[in-house]
Amino acid sequence: MAWFKREKGAIENPTPVDERSVRTEGLWTKCSSCRAIIWKKDLEANWEVCPKCDHHFRLDARRRLELLLDDENWVEYDADLASNDPLHFVDTKPYAQRLKDAQEKLGVKDAILTVEGRLAGRPVICCSMEFGFIGGSMGAVVGEKVTRAIERSLAQRQPLVIVSCSAGARMMEGAVSLMQLAKVAAALARLDEARVPFISILTDPTTGGVSASYAMLGDLNISEPGAMIGFAGPRVIEQTIRQKLPEGFQRAEFLLEHGFLDAVVPRKELKSYVAQALGFFLDSP
Ligand SMILES: [Zn+2]
Repeated sequence: MAWFKREKGAIENPTPVDERSVRTEGLWTKCSSCRAIIWKKDLEANWEVCPKCDHHFRLDARRRLELLLDDENWVEYDADLASNDPLHFVDTKPYAQRLKDAQEKLGVKDAILTVEGRLAGRPVICCSMEFGFIGGSMGAVVGEKVTRAIERSLAQRQPLVIVSCSAGARMMEGAVSLMQLAKVAAALARLDEARVPFISILTDPTTGGVSASYAMLGDLNISEPGAMIGFAGPRVIEQTIRQKLPEGFQRAEFLLEHGFLDAVVPRKELKSYVAQALGFFLDSP
């Protein structure tokens, strides 16, 4: 049976990622949807949308801002806000180490960028989530940055656009993460009372505590084709309700059909769609 057992050292000291990627990283990539071989530069130039089948790959937080905003002259807020690991949480490795690794790898302090910039000439407050940072999870920092963005939006009476991409609340901050849901939702209620528009863009994936708070509280909730959106995973739901889930469950198109979304917009039309919607909210007499 010895060969079934994984050597302890094999897990702790795998081939260094750098070595592996140097050997295998090519100029080409395979589309996970249609299996077409695509030149990486083509995919990049096409905003990470497969030129063959229109499959929408994930976009990182910064590229997302480049897609939506007019130029890169945006002002970033609260860039230095970082978690202090309130629970001193340890799972397979200490949370403090996870944070440090993600910060070093991505050059950001947490899973969201909050900026002020221009969208089709109009000043907006824009938040963009980074899935690469611990699954885009929402802990105290994400909750606080979103709340401050909402408050800024309210004080300056500038529309708010939040792009969600998240696995949900951050388990390593436990109840502190869950409290963010109420905090953000309360701030959004104030924004709503002041009649400042908020457009929520739900991208693949938007789940858990993020879908259960600000992502679903937009004046408009829009998504990209094929995006996975939900609260709990399909297996958990099937086991709870003891029923087979329908085809396409938790995909953007299914949610649109059932009234949970206002629109599914292809990435290339996203900016013009948001610009038009803001015009509708703000320019009508
Ligand atoms: Zn494809």
